[in-house]
Amino acid sequence: MTALPLVFDAPRRGLPPRHLADMSADERRAAVTELGEKPFRANQLSHHYFARLTADPDLMTDIPAASRGRLAETLLPPLLSPVRHISCDDDATRKTLWRAHDGTLLESVLMRYPDRVTLCVSSQAGCGMACPFCATGQGGLQRNLSTAEIVDQVRAAAAAMRDGDLGEPGRLSNIVFMGMGEPLANYKRVVEAVRRITEPAPNGLGISQRSVTVSTVGLAPAIRKLADEKMQVRLAVSLHTPDDELRNTLVPVNNRWSVDEVLEAARYYADTSGRRVSIEYALIRDINDQPWRAGLLAKRLRKHLGQLVHVNVIPLNPTPGSQWDAAPKPVEREFVRRVNEGGVACTVRDTRGQEIAAACGQLAAEG
Ligand code: SAH
Repeated sequence: MTALPLVFDAPRRGLPPRHLADMSADERRAAVTELGEKPFRANQLSHHYFARLTADPDLMTDIPAASRGRLAETLLPPLLSPVRHISCDDDATRKTLWRAHDGTLLESVLMRYPDRVTLCVSSQAGCGMACPFCATGQGGLQRNLSTAEIVDQVRAAAAAMRDGDLGEPGRLSNIVFMGMGEPLANYKRVVEAVRRITEPAPNGLGISQRSVTVSTVGLAPAIRKLADEKMQVRLAVSLHTPDDELRNTLVPVNNRWSVDEVLEAARYYADTSGRRVSIEYALIRDINDQPWRAGLLAKRLRKHLGQLVHVNVIPLNPTPGSQWDAAPKPVEREFVRRVNEGGVACTVRDTRGQEIAAACGQLAAEG
């Protein structure tokens, strides 16, 4: 077994100053009081940020100008500014490149479907998990994002939907932690962000916990810890193959927590939350697409998770410089058929944003 290759909560290095969205309602009131302002100013600020979805102090005209300056300086430090937006899929998909206060770049992707609108958020700038098929994994980890930097991606997307930036005005309904980074390697800040995203307005953005998905490479102890938070969020585990030998190379952290350990932790999550766990499987031609692997996948998932599991097959999005490619469609169909035949629900995930490098694993934040 290799030495622990990661820490759950790297230091605050490079993180922005504390922001309203980093704080609980009590902390916000305390911070406002410390400035010599009345506690109800905290509620006003929260209402502007979480309900009106604005972070611009100039628009908060119900707060006297003198107080506004002071409050904004302490509670609303600028976090993310858009560098550019790129759209595709007939404008149903939009990728945004953000610049943080220290110049760090990160991306989020907004996807409009007939029945829902999903935002794919980043939890870290870069990623330390080094999965060889993932573009983000190639550049290494720059830093964790703060809670507020995660929440602000969501606030901006909710405002964009309300304002009709992607066609007809609509409501942001779903959040997936499938952008840059490994959410469970930034555990505390991600859990806080989920709370802020899901608390009802004016203390949070009011998105249902059931509509939030946290996707992980499989940090088994952190999966168990997340289960013990007793939230209703969906867990997705990026398995990509049912055998340790191949997974050790596709998802290097498997050298630390094996397929068995990851699936047992996923079982604990399913039992504790009462929710089915999603298994992500990026299908790669001649690497992990063999019919026997589909059979083995079904067998191992049935053993560990019974009916509490669903497999999402993601056709591999080729990344620059890699010789790997998606499995051919007939191979993909056979793979899905075999998993279903093995008694495990399995479907193919639609891939949005391919031509703007906004699909799964393509986020690399080129300036
Ligand atoms: N670190 C987390 C979340 C980010 S990636 C995780 O690994 O789950 C979200 C999903 O996209 C993961 O399942 C990841 O394995 C997958 N992915 C990464 N690169 C991909 C690629 N090139 N093609 C298809 N899926 C990819």
